Parts: sequence; structure tokens; C-alpha cells
Amino acid sequence: MAILVCGGAGYIGSHMVAQLLEKGEEVVVLDNFQKGHHDSLLGGKLYSGDLRDDAILHKVFTENNIDAVIDFAADSLVGESVTEPLKYFENNIGSTINLLKAMRDYKVKKIVFSSTAATYGEPDNIPILEDDRTFPTNPYGESKLAVEKILKWCDNAYGIKYTALRYFNAAGAHISGKIGEDHRPESHLIPLILQVALGQREKIMIFGDDYDTEDGTCVRDYVHVTDLANAHLLAVERLRRGEDSVICNLGNGKGFSVKEVIETTRKVTGLKIKAEMAPRRAGDPAVLIASSDKAKNILGWAPKYDSLQTIIETAWQWHKGHPDGYVK
Ligand code: UDP
Repeated sequence: MAILVCGGAGYIGSHMVAQLLEKGEEVVVLDNFQKGHHDSLLGGKLYSGDLRDDAILHKVFTENNIDAVIDFAADSLVGESVTEPLKYFENNIGSTINLLKAMRDYKVKKIVFSSTAATYGEPDNIPILEDDRTFPTNPYGESKLAVEKILKWCDNAYGIKYTALRYFNAAGAHISGKIGEDHRPESHLIPLILQVALGQREKIMIFGDDYDTEDGTCVRDYVHVTDLANAHLLAVERLRRGEDSVICNLGNGKGFSVKEVIETTRKVTGLKIKAEMAPRRAGDPAVLIASSDKAKNILGWAPKYDSLQTIIETAWQWHKGHPDGYVK
């Protein structure tokens, strides 16, 4: 029985594939390579195609004995989602609907879905609990929340059991140094700071120092990509045991400010790393920290790389070894 990883050539998807292969699982990957990288795939049977294409889905589901699906395939640039909402609703919701149709038709009853802390929007409480109010402040978060609701009704109608995992700030790279983060364009804090460390960027801009936080900069909960992948594996195993659908946060329950992240990166790299203040970035909540008690209790999840220093060390190892990312 195989596990189908949709979007398996992306940042988190490729770490998922690595983890599944390490566990001896049979892996099938479907990716349209709009953002994914061939070199990020350490193995598995690859199908190149889009989830909105019925023909490729038919091929994947007829040629393989798929037992469970892990779905990472989505557009994920928050800023772009604000200027191009229809692209996000069409792709992120449309492709998952197509996937669910295929799962219904081929009687595949287990899915782990890549959701996001952006489903909460500006939080009412810290740490954020799964049953807190969801009020996304951008179309990206809205599209993921919509899929969570679609999953609920597909469970009700077709018995497709799901686990939706709401990630906080995915960061770090595989411990082997072979795979890591390569977004184009890059918009995430840690890889951008590391580009400064590599001399590819003159300075890191700190988006706002007038937030209601200790040092005035935004606080986020950074979680290692391998720990995220591991949570998906535990979620698949739990669904295989016949357990019910669930939504879980994935974070470390610890928050670090932008300034703390820059300071830790200076320590890890031993380099100066120039930083400069800039205005706030639209739509950034001041503080996002997860309660991951539910994931720990229900999935038995225990993050291994939970210190910011380790997260940055693994990211640095990847960026140093691949200063141009996955060379096309
Ligand atoms: N950030 C920053 N400078 C940058 C990129 C990001 O100050 O060049 C801040 C951003 O405002 C946020 C935090 O770093 O508070 C993490 O941003 P990122 O885009 O990595 O993840 P997000 O929290 O938006 O998912």
C-alpha cells in the first residue's frame, strides 16, 4: 500500500517524502513543478502533473494501490493571495476538491491535509488553541479554512477521514543537508537572513518595531520541517488505526521575535548580518504561538528539533551547501 504525497517536491513535501522513505513506506509523488524542485526528491515514484487534471489523478490512482494521501499542493504566498485571491481560491480549493473526488471514486479514505496558523487571523488568545475563533486576514488562510470545512463534509458524506495540521512557522532543513528551503521569490525570515549571511543580500529588513511585544518586533513560533513531517507520519498511522478526523496545531509553543531570530542567526553563523528597521508588513499579527498539546496528546507528537538554534543550524547547513538552492 502506497502513500500519495501531493506537492511532494515542495519544501515541506520533500521532507515528508524523505521521512516516509526512511520509514520504509511506499511513496508516490504528484507535483506540477510550478514551485517544486526535481532535486528535492530523494526517491518515490514520481508523477508530474496538476491536481486539477482528472487524467493524471486517474492514472495515479489506477496504477498504484494508494492507502492514504498527504496533501501539500497549494499556493502559499500570503501577499500574493491578497492581490490575487481568485488564483488562491481556484488552485487551493479547486485542486483539493478534485483530489477528494478521486479519493471518493477510488475509495481512498485517509487524508492528511496541510493547513496553517493563518486560519486564525489575529488571535484572541496566546497560545492559540484549535477551537479558538478562526477569522483569516488573507485569502491564503481563507482558502485553507475552506478546505478544512470541505473535509468535514466529505467525512460526513463519504467517510473520508482527515487530519488537518495547522502549521505555525515552518523552518530549518533536513539533518543530512541534502534538502532544504528554496522558495522563489523568497519571503520567509530565516532564509532571507541567511542570504545576508551568504553575502547575497545586503541587509535584512525588520518589518516593524512598534508591536506590543517585548522588543517591539513580531513574535512567531518556529517549528522544524522534519518535526512537521513526522507529525504527518503519526497522523497517517493514527488514521490507519481507524481513528476519527481531527484538526491539530503544529508549533513548539515558544515564541521568538524577529530580533531574536536575527541575533541567534548571528550566533550560529558567526557573522555580523546587517539589519535595518522598516515599516510593518501589512497583515502581520504581533504574536503567533501555538498550543500543540492536542498534537502531542492525540498524535503522540514529540518535536525533536525544538530549539531555535538547532532549527537555524540545519537551515544554515543547507544554505551554505546550496547557496543557489536547487540549481535548475
Ligand atoms: N519578517 C521581517 N523581515 C523579512 C521577512 C519577514 O521582519 O524580510 C518578519 C515578518 O514580519 C514576520 C516574521 O518575520 O513577523 C516571520 O515572517 P515569515 O514571512 O517568515 O513568516 P509568516 O509569519 O509571515 O508566516
